[in-house]
Amino acid sequence: MNDCIFCKIINREIPATIIYEDEDVISFLDIAPVNIGHSLVIPKKHYVNIFETPEKELVAMTKIIKRLAHAIKNALNADGINVTMNNDKAAGQVVFHAHIHIIPRINGDGFGLWHGKRNYNEGEKEEVLKKITSML
Ligand code: 5GP
Ligand code: ZN
Repeated sequence: MNDCIFCKIINREIPATIIYEDEDVISFLDIAPVNIGHSLVIPKKHYVNIFETPEKELVAMTKIIKRLAHAIKNALNADGINVTMNNDKAAGQVVFHAHIHIIPRINGDGFGLWHGKRNYNEGEKEEVLKKITSML
């Protein structure tokens, strides 16, 4: 896609700090990191998000994420790593070329997660289980 910023990175039309590249995927530093070393892993073909990305590419992404998570944690002495993917606007997706974030976390860095979690009401778990499994 011509106007996609991540396709431009793949095609070397705009610069990025590339960490890894193979036939299917490329990884580079996020331009505005949550913490230093925050990286993105993306498929080389343009897919909007998880809903479009074929299993083959997702598997390739996962393989390098495993290696990068170890490398980033060790290289930066991180205390933890978040691996996250935002899919669609409601989930916070801003760049519409599929990507997975690898974010090094430091004890006490203050970046909280999931504010306002709730509990299930009576019978809700069974109901949602039925709905989800019927779609698998
Ligand atoms: P999203 O919210 O879509 O999951 O995250 C998009 C990410 O892409 C953001 O963390 C943002 O900082 C990063 N990003 C946006 N534009 C660029 C860019 O031109 N280069 C790089 N390296 N990262 C970018
Ligand atoms: Zn793209």
